[in-house]
Amino acid sequence: MKKSIFALSLLLALGCTAQKASKKNAPLAAAPVDIEALIAQMTIEEKVGQMTQINLDVVCEGGIYKLVEPHHIEPAKLQEAITKWHVGSVLNCGGHAYPLKQWHELIGEIQRVATTQGRLKIPVLYGVDAIHGANYMMGSTLFPQQLGQAATFNPELVKTGASITAYETRAAGIPWNFSPVLDVGRNPNWSRFFETYGEDPLVCSTMGRACVQGYQGNSSYDRGVRPDATHVAACMKHFLGYSGARTGKDRTPAIISDIELRQIYMPSFQAAINEGAMSVMINSGEINGIPVHANPAILTQLLRNEMGFKGMAVTDWEDVMKLHQIHKVTANNKESVKAAVDAGIDMCMVPNDFEFARHLIELVKEGQITEARLNESVRRILVMKRDLGLFVNAMPPALKEFPDFGSAKHQQAARETAEESITLLKNERVLPLSKNSKVLVCGPAANSLTLINGAWTRTWQGTDEKYEEATRNTIFEALQVMNPNVVFSQGSTLDSLSNVDETVAKARASDAVVVCLSELPSTEKPGDIEDLSMPVAQRELVKQLSQTGKPIVLVLVENRPRIIHDIVPLCKGVVMAYQPGDLGSDALARILFGDVNPSGKLPFTYPAHEQSLLTYDHKFSETLDPKFGNTAYSPEWPFGFGMSYSNLKYGTLKLSSNELKGNGSVTVTIDVTNAGVMEARETVLLYTRDQVASITPSVRKLRKFHKHAIKPGETMTYLFTLNASDLSFINKDLKNVTEAGAFDIIVGDQVATIQYIP
Ligand code: BGC
Repeated sequence: MKKSIFALSLLLALGCTAQKASKKNAPLAAAPVDIEALIAQMTIEEKVGQMTQINLDVVCEGGIYKLVEPHHIEPAKLQEAITKWHVGSVLNCGGHAYPLKQWHELIGEIQRVATTQGRLKIPVLYGVDAIHGANYMMGSTLFPQQLGQAATFNPELVKTGASITAYETRAAGIPWNFSPVLDVGRNPNWSRFFETYGEDPLVCSTMGRACVQGYQGNSSYDRGVRPDATHVAACMKHFLGYSGARTGKDRTPAIISDIELRQIYMPSFQAAINEGAMSVMINSGEINGIPVHANPAILTQLLRNEMGFKGMAVTDWEDVMKLHQIHKVTANNKESVKAAVDAGIDMCMVPNDFEFARHLIELVKEGQITEARLNESVRRILVMKRDLGLFVNAMPPALKEFPDFGSAKHQQAARETAEESITLLKNERVLPLSKNSKVLVCGPAANSLTLINGAWTRTWQGTDEKYEEATRNTIFEALQVMNPNVVFSQGSTLDSLSNVDETVAKARASDAVVVCLSELPSTEKPGDIEDLSMPVAQRELVKQLSQTGKPIVLVLVENRPRIIHDIVPLCKGVVMAYQPGDLGSDALARILFGDVNPSGKLPFTYPAHEQSLLTYDHKFSETLDPKFGNTAYSPEWPFGFGMSYSNLKYGTLKLSSNELKGNGSVTVTIDVTNAGVMEARETVLLYTRDQVASITPSVRKLRKFHKHAIKPGETMTYLFTLNASDLSFINKDLKNVTEAGAFDIIVGDQVATIQYIP
């Protein structure tokens, strides 16, 4: 049967009005299906199937994680998944990225079978991790990892990047993205630190909201608007407290007080919920001894009843079965299924077999879980499919509908995001480099696309070089495009010195040395580390180069801030590049040679020592040192730090009043003058400090930030409006309150005080 005839007959079979997207960007999904009528027709098995998500490997030829290349669907396996288990969702790629054409074949076949051979012809909801661009689609545009995106302090760039990612994901026929990560990066040891928007809840909330807007377009449950055919459903992850593991090792226990949970970990999720985020993924770990997948207090009371989330909750990978197998809070897998469903999950990322479905069917038939409970989850899943337009057309689009996939326009957006993210941390009159100077570039990241991309690039861990885009420049290549006198010598791999003598000799013959230090891309368990220090060999390379007396510019390409305290004094310049993506080399070159003025700021505290991993919003007691002074907080670079090539002069901090009364507000202004010769972009950060509070106050809390472009010679006035909620904190009754009294308002090195009078 032809696709178009079939689509019409499906709609008629469902008793609906056919409504097709007339234009490319038109909303697809204005209620083509009666969800309640559909649920009424479903068997228990079909409902459980909707709640079951399997990995693509399950329906492909070959074994799980051992698929036959090139990957393609094995018809009998797909048939079993759809007609026997009524599977509602499939995720990911079989281990590596595909060209769009292959995605279309795979997804087209899954949707064709689901919508022709499934009894109720319900389309499959396909989900993927497109976390810094559509990273599982060959030829797509790669953006800096989230940590770098946060360093731009520019939510508009994050939104644009997310909308490009949505477009390029939809081009493959995939409508659901497991992104953004809204976990707050409080511990730099954590292997997924680079996936966060950094350590501050306000930055995570602001960037998370912008990302959801970019992914979903103007969609919002509350506004009744749905994503169009170029947008995707966002999936906030990983709810809640995943990043708070005590050891910093992935999926190890977090001990988080109720106050901290609300103060630090909840706001980013609340902001995304308020923005209409359509789905959420659950934290694989445990908080205070209770695995989150089995915790109704978090998954139902908090998420739904208190925070008002109306969308769909999917588990993380194998996490239902891990309730028994790893966490040991249930006696067997069947009990795990009951615990997770009772706690509030809607869909289980099983993902490699049908055990979840088998147990859940039994539990319902035994009366241990009601069919009404299944209906709640099935309704959310079907609503999401409807809102994504899948009942109208689940098939992949024609390639010609996505002419901008991987286009120069998209690449430019990625490069500009990298340009605003790259952060100048030290500059003793070495940068920008002259385009005529002789420059040696060395170090493990100097000539590698893998290291600048990071994990989740074409493969899960992002380390397989064969998927790199050959057309992109490494750092060396990008520098050489701008200055033919740039030469390369490796000097060191990630963990051992190599051709160091030759490298030092080339340094002697150069005017300046750019050393690009790095770490192996990694995420989740494989990214656990024993030592936060930059590997010895890489620091040794810098030490040997410093013997030449040539000025050294250190470029950091890292998953997380590796400690470099001993080599910072040896370098005249230090630049944090994060993992800027494969257009980031061009951005870095433009900064190093002075075509672009750096404007990134650290979205985390760069530690100087392994045992001093304090965040900027630490408590006063944490500043006390062994000599009873106040020097215990002395990071390598503080949160919010980042220099410009321009001399930016801050004027006097001005307040409209020294009192803030009740529902009133106070206006805070500060002038910033660009006394340099290049246009600058400057982010001004405004912090407050509660002088006395019923819960020990932080030394400062970020409350507002604005970024503006300032032309040479121009003065820009930054204006902030503060009201009582900008001075609030979570008190012992878990209420967000503002207590009467004195508050410091802090901008740069200036402090003014206001009294809050309720
Ligand atoms: C990760 C998630 C990811 C999922 C699907 C899990 O292991 O924790 O962040 O979305 O896999 O790939």
